[in-house]
Amino acid sequence: MPEVKLAAGTMAVAALSPGDTLSVRALVAGQVAELVAHAAADPRERLSTLLTGLAEGAYTLREGMTLWSQEYSPLLRVEELSNEQHDLALEACTPWIARALGNEPVGTCCWSSFRAWLEQEGLPEKWVPYPVGIFKQAEERDGRYGLAPGSSAAGDFVRFSAASPCTVLVSACALTTGGEPGVPAIEVTWND
Ligand SMILES: [Zn+2]
Repeated sequence: MPEVKLAAGTMAVAALSPGDTLSVRALVAGQVAELVAHAAADPRERLSTLLTGLAEGAYTLREGMTLWSQEYSPLLRVEELSNEQHDLALEACTPWIARALGNEPVGTCCWSSFRAWLEQEGLPEKWVPYPVGIFKQAEERDGRYGLAPGSSAAGDFVRFSAASPCTVLVSACALTTGGEPGVPAIEVTWND
């Protein structure tokens, strides 16, 4: 069972068969992980957090829910989770969001990592799915909208299973970070 420990601003790629599981665990409090999934047969078939939210009537992850592609095919299911504060609405962190917020990304932004993988797959268009923001939280305070620290405590996890053959990308967020730069912050394990 591969186990990858990610420092903020780095990514793991897992190829899953139906029934395989993939767990994302926070090693430090406050760290966010961003996750996207693409169908193995055709990576243009990809996670849609919008369709997932509508189909599941959900704005966060819940046990038993399905993550759907934009063509309403099931990609992943949520098997178990220790924390229900996640985000299905925000885009992946980008260098431009970092600039707008006046934050310095630690390592590579999630969007940039997802984008590099798509390019490798021969999909050079500037298009990246919105991710599941694991432990990610938006915050609205005094009429201003912003990013809150990640909801994770050390040891918090979400375990998914594959509903169809898919490739899952998990990036330890470069913008909503918990620990020190370069220190493992997210652990990803999956069947091989
Ligand atoms: Zn990010």
